Amino acid sequence: MSTIARIMNQGLFPVRVDPLKSVEQEAEFSGSIAVSKLGRLQDFLQDDSGEAQVEIQFGHDEQGTALLRGKCHAHVRMTCQRCMNPVEVALATDFEVGIVFSDEQAKHLDKQYEPVIADAESLELLPVIEDELILSLPMYAYHEQCGDHDLVQTEEETTPVETEAPNNPFSVLEQLKKK
Ligand SMILES: [Zn+2]
Repeated sequence: MSTIARIMNQGLFPVRVDPLKSVEQEAEFSGSIAVSKLGRLQDFLQDDSGEAQVEIQFGHDEQGTALLRGKCHAHVRMTCQRCMNPVEVALATDFEVGIVFSDEQAKHLDKQYEPVIADAESLELLPVIEDELILSLPMYAYHEQCGDHDLVQTEEETTPVETEAPNNPFSVLEQLKKK
């Protein structure tokens, strides 16, 4: 707990938490995660610049299902599919996942929740956040207007593109699972 408190004071998001205690206490955590810490997300990006701002809260639904709810937003650089130069993309996602402690529990989880499997002592938070960010990636990124992007973009040129999570069977994570 003291480790988490110290990390929180630095504004960094905790790497792992005690899931049972967090659910019981309806604990809230917020902070930032450097994109450079999220290797699987980076596979979709131009570089590892940027960081994600994350807020999460643990709790239960009416049926007593342990839940993790959160919000995450990040500015990342993808590759423009028209000119192949970097384009800054704003990612934003709201999520709600069910916390389970075995495959068996995951099978019985209410279908409305994606299961996240924790062990009794610790829940790794970064992979959960990373999955949600990957799901929120646009299928393709484009500049509104491709210009002369031979040079690194200036602030004025990096117009963030608002994106919605791709809510269809061709979403990025689905494609990954099929591989
Ligand atoms: Zn472009």
